[in-house]
Amino acid sequence: MVKKIAAVIIIMIMIFNSTACSGQEKKRYEAEFVLIFDTVTQIVGYSESRGEFTRQAQLIHDTLKEYHQLYDIYNNYDGINNLKTINDQAGKAPVIVDQRIIDMLLFSKEVYDLSDGKVNAAFGAVLKIWHDYREEGIESPEKAELPPIDLLIESSKHTDISKMIIDEENSTVFLTDPAMSLDVGAIAKGYAVQEVSKIALKNGFTSGLISVGGNVRSIGIKEDTGTPWKVGIQNPMGQEGDNISHVNLSNASLVTSGIYERYYIVDGRNYHHIIDPDTLFPAEYFASVSILCSDSGLADALSTSLFNMPFEQGQALIESLPDTEAIWVFLDGKIKYSTNY
Ligand code: ADP
Ligand code: MG
Repeated sequence: MVKKIAAVIIIMIMIFNSTACSGQEKKRYEAEFVLIFDTVTQIVGYSESRGEFTRQAQLIHDTLKEYHQLYDIYNNYDGINNLKTINDQAGKAPVIVDQRIIDMLLFSKEVYDLSDGKVNAAFGAVLKIWHDYREEGIESPEKAELPPIDLLIESSKHTDISKMIIDEENSTVFLTDPAMSLDVGAIAKGYAVQEVSKIALKNGFTSGLISVGGNVRSIGIKEDTGTPWKVGIQNPMGQEGDNISHVNLSNASLVTSGIYERYYIVDGRNYHHIIDPDTLFPAEYFASVSILCSDSGLADALSTSLFNMPFEQGQALIESLPDTEAIWVFLDGKIKYSTNY
């Protein structure tokens, strides 16, 4: 309901911070907007003029919005077959979709295999139950409850990603199990940020940061200082802005999955939104896991994957991937870094 009301009020705040950078022609600008991927998007960039930056930010906004609508599992949009359409047609019929859905779902299969099933785009049946209990628990904290385990186990029988049939030739997706559904919450944001970064770069956005709810992708380096972008990693036990570390990014991404992002409280305990396929309950290995690598889609998928696996398994996976680093924050606050971090 809240989402519906919010959806009609499209808020777009542009903050133009035109502090001149001494001796440089380009200036730093910032834009911020809400309602895409249900989170806050921030763009920072160096541009020759305010008008040029506005054009770039508008393009990034509009393109992200297209991706959001395609990957949305909660809302329908006029004239668009999106993930909700695919879910609604589960067990009934293949759905003709945009190539951007096909490509993202092919990628989701790849990361399913890479993560040994720890990130599963076909996990919707289980995630929907947690989503509904969480929303209910946030709305009425006094009534907050945990989902019954029997219900979770029953739903987990309908999460077989091999039953997501992608027909590339005909551009269709068909879920053959009527009780299954897709949820790309762990992948789509990062994937979209990566694609949008490429489009923005092609359009002349050569120095900037795009952050969609903390999924950060940097483009080029900071034009004023000629140095990489510096991005903080939040202390999962602290407040926003309380960082445990900073990383330098140049044409790279930083994505974090953590217990603090989305959760509800039952009997004084925090139940967050990343569900371990082995227990069907929120994963209990870490407070957060951050991934640093070039591709923001991979970073997003890996951050959720590693969050759902023991340290040793995640470490082995990260060490097997070139130019990909991880930072694990344990529940007791201890921090570990991958070898080449
Ligand atoms: P965020 O979206 O908050 O940045 P993540 O990238 O870790 O965090 O994604 C969390 C979302 O991914 C959840 O809200 C849910 O939609 C989905 N999800 C949770 N557990 C899994 C899982 N095991 N496999 C696939 N998707 C998951
Ligand atoms: Mg993720």
